[in-house]
Amino acid sequence: MKGTVKWFSSEKGYGFITSNEDQDHFFGVQSIRGSSLPDNGDSVEFTPTMGDKGAKATNVVIVKKAPQVAQKTSRADDRITCPGCERKIVPRIIMDHGSIDRTVCPFCTTTIEDHSLLGMLFSLVGFIIKTFFILAKEYPVALFLASLSVLILVLLS
Ligand SMILES: [Zn+2]
Repeated sequence: MKGTVKWFSSEKGYGFITSNEDQDHFFGVQSIRGSSLPDNGDSVEFTPTMGDKGAKATNVVIVKKAPQVAQKTSRADDRITCPGCERKIVPRIIMDHGSIDRTVCPFCTTTIEDHSLLGMLFSLVGFIIKTFFILAKEYPVALFLASLSVLILVLLS
């Protein structure tokens, strides 16, 4: 008989299959044939039997995996580690006048990404300073001469 996994808990070790005739069949982990455990929505084939507590499924074979496995992974990719509280979070978007202002941690409200003009300016200045220091470490003489010529140009203008 064909059916779909209604739900399966690998912790509990059991779940239910809804048959194509719309009847729920209990199944335990020992009734699964093959090495992989079923996920919710997987298409399965099974042998229906009657137990003391109702319909049961044995010889459960996964025919087709549900496409939700890919969704699960992409959802997991949205989660980042908050620099404030170090929890796995999905940043919350804060809107300001119809545009994205910033994203914050839903637990500790630490700013994750600042999209506001001031915030972007800060990160730009930060980037320039960082680049300056990296360059200063690599090419001290060239940078000294460059800053000197910029200074002279500024003084002359
Ligand atoms: Zn946080």
